[in-house]
Amino acid sequence: MDATVTTDAATTRPRLAGFARGIHLPFQGDPLDWLEEHVQFPHSARSTRFTRQQGPWWNDVIAQFSNPRTRQIYVRACTGAGKSTLLEALSTLIVAHDPGPSLFVTQTDQTAVDWMEQRLLPVLHGCQPVAALMPSNRFKVRKDAIIFPHMALMAGGANVSNAQEKSVKHLFLDEAWTYSNLIGQFKARHHDRFDRKTVIVSQAHEEPHQLDDEWDAGKRHYWAFDCAACGQLIKPDWTNYKYDEVKNEHGEWQWGALSASVRHVCPHCEHETPDTTQARRALADRSRWVAEDGDAMEGHVSYWLPAQCVWWIKWADLVISWVRANDAKHLGLLEPLKDFKMKKLAQPWPKELELPSVEMEAADYNAADMEDGRAITDEMIRLMTIDVQQDHYWAVIRAWTNSGTSRLLYCGRVLTLDKLREIQTRYKVADKKTCMDAGNSFHGVVYDRCAQYGWTALIGRGEDWFSSKNKQGRTVRRLFSKPDYVPAPTTKSKQTGRSAMVLFFHWASDPVKDVLARLRTIGSPTWEFPHDVPREYLLHLNSERKRDVVDKITKRTRKRWTKTHRPNHLWDCEAMQVVVAMMLGALPDLSEDVVDESAVTE
Ligand SMILES: [Zn+2]
Repeated sequence: MDATVTTDAATTRPRLAGFARGIHLPFQGDPLDWLEEHVQFPHSARSTRFTRQQGPWWNDVIAQFSNPRTRQIYVRACTGAGKSTLLEALSTLIVAHDPGPSLFVTQTDQTAVDWMEQRLLPVLHGCQPVAALMPSNRFKVRKDAIIFPHMALMAGGANVSNAQEKSVKHLFLDEAWTYSNLIGQFKARHHDRFDRKTVIVSQAHEEPHQLDDEWDAGKRHYWAFDCAACGQLIKPDWTNYKYDEVKNEHGEWQWGALSASVRHVCPHCEHETPDTTQARRALADRSRWVAEDGDAMEGHVSYWLPAQCVWWIKWADLVISWVRANDAKHLGLLEPLKDFKMKKLAQPWPKELELPSVEMEAADYNAADMEDGRAITDEMIRLMTIDVQQDHYWAVIRAWTNSGTSRLLYCGRVLTLDKLREIQTRYKVADKKTCMDAGNSFHGVVYDRCAQYGWTALIGRGEDWFSSKNKQGRTVRRLFSKPDYVPAPTTKSKQTGRSAMVLFFHWASDPVKDVLARLRTIGSPTWEFPHDVPREYLLHLNSERKRDVVDKITKRTRKRWTKTHRPNHLWDCEAMQVVVAMMLGALPDLSEDVVDESAVTE
């Protein structure tokens, strides 16, 4: 597969004649000139041709890749930096100028197939010198590999079987933060070839991770510029991005005024740069990779590219995420800050920051004090969540304030539906805010109950997130789905006479339980339960542990909340409280913009 192709081969083996006409080995010119002449991105709405101005940070990376002495390139980049552009451009260079068996590793076999079909093939077909080499036999263009006359280009998921096949010359590890334990196995597929190259492109990871060693192996670079006023070198330090903390008299953030105040301030002379596309672009044009001091393995380079360097990303958007993440941190929710650090700042997150402690301390009140349904100070909403068993129920009622603090009002085992209804009424919980778990084998009965009382159904799922639209119409990922309706099996609507429709949501049980675990650690006064809470509450709240679980489909190991021998019903009820509090705005909803890698301009 990695036959060395020469013009001799072209004359003796006619099948390679087209290939020999299309390329000139060894490649002498500037790879950027060649890419600008030949490479297009048909899937990109705005930047359909490769240009060196678009993502200027890629230019040196591409040059480094074309250097025969380079063995490994690791780019730790924010999401949305246009990394697909890099991988697709390098693919064309390999096929046309530096052939050899090549493997692109993505998170799963399916993401590999999708990338090959939707992104890579259109780029290869659109690049004339590569298109001329495309195999005419359609069986050689498979969904996970293209068998060119002179090399094979393969794509696959990060799993053990893909890590154990035959030798490759070029290895690409995409989003390697998701597969710590396989990086070494994939690199072993080079079989120590003298001409091997590994390219790792990923957002940052949770430490400890094998990527820490890969990072340290390379000569470290950061993307920096010289101040327009004082001429001194400025590193991409997030603390140089300043904003005014504008709040109204109720203590609510004024996002418009805050966004308008965002600017970059030179740490040496305090020169200010405004947050406009033109100004950010001008900084990018003046920026370059700067090497840090320190030892490195020969032929290994590491690059760090945080989001504030990517000129099409507004600093104000980053600042808003940052401010929200810090607000959430004060409530004990570390996820937004962790996401911001790993995805936007492209900085690793040390895992020990979030080790939960399961010691729980009661707040200074009695459950009996709350039985008359009285409101708590600054109450925003109160929620009742119900876990459904064969012949009984478990319920939790909690009151939430708009600053995200909450107090447990009721919890316990309930034998009948009538009793549930009585408790709901006594504690003055609105019908729609009474939520029943339908993620079980009794869901038909649950939908009928919900239809009868106007309650909401909730279904916990194994997904990490669901796609949704925010108020501005942008696609976001949330820990809960869009609202949907399901017909109740036997209950009829009084108005229409047809099946009554029940409102339901899916929710992502693992990340929501992470948030719950955080609240449990923080405890009072942020997240309260009374002195006289029943003993089973404390047992249920310690019933699940995070354990390594192997995903049946992807074969990847991940940590999931799993049951111990203890019953977990009130833990589930509290998790449902957290997700509904997010839906209704009492807790930050942890939504996250979906970054479209192809949309590399504003
Ligand atoms: Zn300056």
